[in-house]
Amino acid sequence: MALLERGAYGFWLGELVGGLALTLRYMFKRKVTLNYPYEKGPISARFRGEHALRRYPNGEERCIACKLCEAICPAQAITIEAEPRGDGSRRTTRYDIDMTKCIYCGFCQEACPVDAIVEGPNFEFATETREEMYYNKEKLLGNGDRWESEIAQNLELDAPYR
Ligand code: SF4
Ligand code: SF4
Repeated sequence: MALLERGAYGFWLGELVGGLALTLRYMFKRKVTLNYPYEKGPISARFRGEHALRRYPNGEERCIACKLCEAICPAQAITIEAEPRGDGSRRTTRYDIDMTKCIYCGFCQEACPVDAIVEGPNFEFATETREEMYYNKEKLLGNGDRWESEIAQNLELDAPYR
């Protein structure tokens, strides 16, 4: 009997019909996948992505070259050189991050007294060469300029919990 049943099932293409029915059922359900990279899911305000150096609204660099971020970085990924400006203020002449060493712990951001170095919301910064992962000050300031509105919004959202 079982043999007959299996034969009839095969003859009427039962598995194929069952598969098509399943496809049809899911066709009208709410989609759980995203059409990445054209669609992206939400990310937390605390997301630790690509690094950026921020400026004040007047364009002045926030970083005061205190080197706290360099000192706290457990991966020793940050290298800073600094000298005083003509007006007596202290600013970096070099600010490098070796992103191949970085472990995205966020300590640099936590240590910074002026919210200059931050880990922004950008997670799409994969490169084809190792050299592209050696970030300099220009690159980091550029990231800051590019992501400032999102970074400021995230810091504001997170502020009540700090
Ligand atoms: S996130 Fe952590 S490992 Fe990366 S640069 Fe900052 S302190 Fe260093
Ligand atoms: S980024 Fe912040 S912690 Fe690092 S040197 Fe500049 S001011 Fe100091």
